Amino acid sequence: QAKNQEGNSYQYCTQDLTANAFKFFSMEISLKQALKSSQFHLVYQPQFDISSGRMIGVEALIRWQHPEQGYIGPDVFIPVAESSGLIKPLGDWIISAACQQIKYWDEQGLPAFPIAINVSRRQLVDHRFCENLRDTLHFYALPGSRIEIEITESAIIDNEEIAYQNLRKLHEMGIYLSIDDFGTGHSSLINLKRFPLDKLKIDRDFVRDLMIDQNDVAIIKATIALARSFNLKVIAEGVETQEQRDYLRDQGCDQVQGYLYSKPVMPDVIEQLWNTPQHGTAPSSCSH
Ligand code: C2E
Ligand code: MG
Ligand code: MG
Ligand code: MG
Repeated sequence: QAKNQEGNSYQYCTQDLTANAFKFFSMEISLKQALKSSQFHLVYQPQFDISSGRMIGVEALIRWQHPEQGYIGPDVFIPVAESSGLIKPLGDWIISAACQQIKYWDEQGLPAFPIAINVSRRQLVDHRFCENLRDTLHFYALPGSRIEIEITESAIIDNEEIAYQNLRKLHEMGIYLSIDDFGTGHSSLINLKRFPLDKLKIDRDFVRDLMIDQNDVAIIKATIALARSFNLKVIAEGVETQEQRDYLRDQGCDQVQGYLYSKPVMPDVIEQLWNTPQHGTAPSSCSH
């Protein structure tokens, strides 16, 4: 809130801050409670090879069903979990739940596709992050190649040594790494070179107006060219129309994710998807 000549903006600002602080703390309390009483669950959004239309993996997305307030979106509560530190226990829960799901799918005979998990900066700079993840994989007897970690540019932007070391460790564990919401942060090309990345995810902001906004087209083309020259895969998120999909495919985008194919769904819907004729046979390799 900028200062103004009237002199009462300070008071206004204080009230505003108090209200926000109150909201923040009450959400923090609700989040703690939610963790204890298992109000969270994961949904999965399938990802597809853009040319063959074949399903190649899923992204895990957290959902919070509050007993009184109903659905609360991750865009609302993840930032609170991050700044309160609750993202660590919550993040551990997310990783365990995702691993348990893969294990279950393996037992059901589904092909061995990877699960992409969103990881926030706070988790990535945790000294115990890799060890915890390794323990969880070990517990479920899963190789690292079943996991893909999605981080945003801001998670690596400060080039903090610990984030870098953790990413290297993840890479050595066979875990895939993608940059989420690519183009919305401020990562530099030097980061791309330095980090052991596998995939760039084009943010849905750029996909949305792709057919009408030349700036978005320029960003998408540049991202795909960049991915090519660094030997990375590129996936577009938020693809809602066939026109967008066709355009992205013609530009050389590798993979797609979005409402055109499927919204994030409960695990049993993923099982049904694999059992539709097109996906009935397991792909021999999950191209990444
Ligand atoms: P994100 O990782 O970039 O996830 C993509 C978001 O776009 C998801 O929203 C997804 O439901 C939505 N989406 C996918 N396809 C379409 C489409 O075609 N159209 C539109 N309009 N939306 C689409 P969601 O699930 O609400 O998640 C929002 C953000 O919250 C995520 O962005 C991610 O940053 C964060 N988040 C979600 N789950 C987790 C989690 O388990 N851990 C962490 N740390 N963050 C999470
Ligand atoms: Mg993501
Ligand atoms: Mg994204
Ligand atoms: Mg996003």
